[in-house]
Amino acid sequence: MKLFFGHPGDQPDYHAYEALQIFGLGGNMPAFVPGEQSMWLRAVDDGCGGDIVTIDIPDFDDSKELERFIYLKMSGLTGYSSPWGCLTGVRPTKIVNQLFAAGMDPGEARNELTAFYCAAEEKASLAVDTAINQRPFLDEQRADPSRIGIYVGIPFCPTRCLYCSFTSNSIEKYKKSVDPYLELLKAEMEDTAALVRKQGLKIESVYIGGGTPTSLSEEQFARFISDVVNNFVAPSPYLCEFSVEAGRPDSITAGKLASMRSAGVNRISVNPQTMNDETLRLIGRRHTAEDTLRAYGLARSSGFDNINMDIICGLPGEDEEAFSHTLDEIERLGPESVTVHTLSVKRAADLKRDEKRSMLSSAVTGAMVSMAASRLQAIGLRPYYMYRQKNMVGNHENVAYCRSGFESPYNIHIMEEDQTILACGAGSVSKRVTPGVIRRAFNVKSVEEYLARSGEMAERKRELFILK
Ligand code: SF4
Repeated sequence: MKLFFGHPGDQPDYHAYEALQIFGLGGNMPAFVPGEQSMWLRAVDDGCGGDIVTIDIPDFDDSKELERFIYLKMSGLTGYSSPWGCLTGVRPTKIVNQLFAAGMDPGEARNELTAFYCAAEEKASLAVDTAINQRPFLDEQRADPSRIGIYVGIPFCPTRCLYCSFTSNSIEKYKKSVDPYLELLKAEMEDTAALVRKQGLKIESVYIGGGTPTSLSEEQFARFISDVVNNFVAPSPYLCEFSVEAGRPDSITAGKLASMRSAGVNRISVNPQTMNDETLRLIGRRHTAEDTLRAYGLARSSGFDNINMDIICGLPGEDEEAFSHTLDEIERLGPESVTVHTLSVKRAADLKRDEKRSMLSSAVTGAMVSMAASRLQAIGLRPYYMYRQKNMVGNHENVAYCRSGFESPYNIHIMEEDQTILACGAGSVSKRVTPGVIRRAFNVKSVEEYLARSGEMAERKRELFILK
């Protein structure tokens, strides 16, 4: 059965659309106007016509009430309940923080999430626990808003993963562009460092992401890291986090680890995504579980004592047993943090148009998400930041779990949007946060465009600080 809303030709209402997206119908729907007091819901049995249901919509002052109303109607009509109920945003903890700010205690906030937002008990507890664990970081930022984060992006990877929608290009194909890119990136970092000095900002964290930064050669990587250090690390007495998303295990070498250690990198990610070779082959990672074990061992023996590992629930072809095997291996290795993603089938990802999409199951994904939560917490890791994305299999979430004291402030602040982030590199986004206002500056996405127009990027960041 397909369901269609409304009046062809009406303008979409953002909140109504968001609520309908929970039911995965976004692509099929004409829009409707809540102000007209009613909407028409037509149920069509694949091509043979069907019933038309008219629903009166009361006037709502609050968009959350409208979303809840639509969620409950749709849930009644389709029989589907989302684990996050009518919660539509990408940051559930922001809502919990608003409830805390309104004077609720954790128990009351949990009740509000289940009673008003119709979230499952498990999700309500996860959001509240996460908000509690990140509270000291948000308090610190409130006390000193001049603290900022720096992001630097390397948009190259060894191969492109099937589910990827980031700015990522084959390092093989772009071999000739890498050195020119690093040169221009160095210039953008110098301009950004000058802006940091001029504005009297305090760099709290430096995060190197991508892409896969370690897809660079050892020589390129050493040069790049030294440029980062000269611009952002050495001049920053307030720095507490220097993270590198090493990411793909097949790109990690002893030489690159040595460069990172001598530069003062204090957190790296070694991301298996899964410890099952058949899945790795299916999703185009072109590395093996053995490569992950080797890279992890090498990182430990190089002296890294804060390692994150990313895994994904709901990968094509995986069942609970396969996922449980990944968790067994992670538990055996004992990283300081594990980020559990739910597969998100984004528009840009090849997976969306691939036949492997039919191998995804939301029921199995839900069981994996719950399994990860209980097993990781049982070994002493606790949730400390989370976010949701559109098109996540089963409407779940991404959550990072860590041992106490191994939180990444950069990740907390970027998700809670309470800190200014200045970003360098193709596809990166800078964000200036002031009370009640977030202003963004977007860098161009493609490497070709970046090489042609890199001078504009620093200018866009400078404009963020000119209040209009
Ligand atoms: S390693 Fe990350 S950025 Fe690179 S292709 Fe895979 S998902 Fe995309």
